[in-house]
Amino acid sequence: MNKAVAITIGGSDPSAGAGIQADCKAFSSIGVHGFTVLTSITSQNTQQVTNVFAIPAEVVVEQITTLLQDVKVFTVKTGMLFSKSIIKSVSECLTKDITIVVDPVMASTTGGALSDESYLDALKQYVLPIASVVTPNKHEAELLTGKTLVSLDDMHDACQIIHEYGVEYVVLKGGHFIHKNAVDVLFDGKDFFDLSLPFHLGKKAHGSGCTFSALIAGFLALGYKPLDAIKHAKCQVWSMIRESYHVGGGVDLVQTKPQHLLPISFINSNDVDMWCALSNAVTDLLVFLPSEFIAEVGMNIGYARAKASCADDVCAVDGRISAGHQQVYCTGSFRFGGSQHIARVILAAMTHDASLRSAINLRFSNQLLSTFEDHGFSIGFFDRKNEPKNTSSTMEWGTDHAFIQCKQTLDVIYDKGGFGKEPMIRVLGKNPQEVTSKVKTVTI
Ligand code: PLP
Repeated sequence: MNKAVAITIGGSDPSAGAGIQADCKAFSSIGVHGFTVLTSITSQNTQQVTNVFAIPAEVVVEQITTLLQDVKVFTVKTGMLFSKSIIKSVSECLTKDITIVVDPVMASTTGGALSDESYLDALKQYVLPIASVVTPNKHEAELLTGKTLVSLDDMHDACQIIHEYGVEYVVLKGGHFIHKNAVDVLFDGKDFFDLSLPFHLGKKAHGSGCTFSALIAGFLALGYKPLDAIKHAKCQVWSMIRESYHVGGGVDLVQTKPQHLLPISFINSNDVDMWCALSNAVTDLLVFLPSEFIAEVGMNIGYARAKASCADDVCAVDGRISAGHQQVYCTGSFRFGGSQHIARVILAAMTHDASLRSAINLRFSNQLLSTFEDHGFSIGFFDRKNEPKNTSSTMEWGTDHAFIQCKQTLDVIYDKGGFGKEPMIRVLGKNPQEVTSKVKTVTI
């Protein structure tokens, strides 16, 4: 079996949040085998960097040449290169046919210096002219350009200046700018692409820069085009920061395998909060939902835009929530147009009560139905036998029928199935959180 391979050339972070440890985790999270070439051994934890030991340049070179004698590698990510002697030696090992992604690491979020005074000029002179992608943050871009950067226009100008050092794609990361959203600016020498996602307020995730550039390199090694590689890396690292966790007394570490991955279609969209609402609800459901509540055909949950008119306005799981052996799990991600089925229920419910923008389906049982009744939920139903022959969608007709019969807004709609059709309970609510809490009420 062939596997995509990439090399990371960088420093060791013993807390394994950043450095080559983070790069290796990022590579393996997308199915790329990572080779690791060590340039320096840092002593650090989640609160501070206490020491940096630079590996002699000839030892760095020997690691690279030994690897390249055995395997032809076409993608390299560089991280902490520390000094001119390491930078110059590394650049001399890398041939023209290698795609190089440069994370111009200079300092750690926890405050420690990760480069010496010879670093900046050497980076400009030896590495940027042969690099494909460079991913500076605000501080690094300010040092590379000699300018203070504040606005989006400043970011664009900085990208142009950095591009002149010879690198093909500049990705100036927006995470440290005080803007409404985290806008990364990509410049390919011709066009600017502003890639925006909301900030994760209050999160300071260690290793996010290393992970981002490693993911770009990894996606390039998998054959993605640069713009796609950058978009996928952005969404993946955003999802990793969202689920970051705490191990020490300092910064959080990014989650290598996040439960939910934001699809790239959400970049520059106003609907990320809807995706988050679904993700939070499903995370919650997976914890408390007993497997006997999961329908045999699987379960879905959807959330419609306020003025939804079609299934493409409804975000839903594009796979299923299913029950395995003693375990409930979710396959697929949340996507607009992800499920026609649950979208039809929600769209029909919204024609009767516009506030009912979310729904979930559960396995039918008489016991579950009577528990909903006992808790005072308003319940409607339809019988598939009464469905007229010419209806285009049973879900649309059934939901509509249940509302018309009950003449009130509904929390629950059930049907007892039909030939080859599983009976089902559907729970409606204003948003995924309300739907989830209604379901929780009947499971306690
Ligand atoms: N340690 C090493 C070895 C690194 O390569 C990096 C990367 O930038 C860091 C620490 C700092 O990581 P962060 O700034 O995300 O905390």
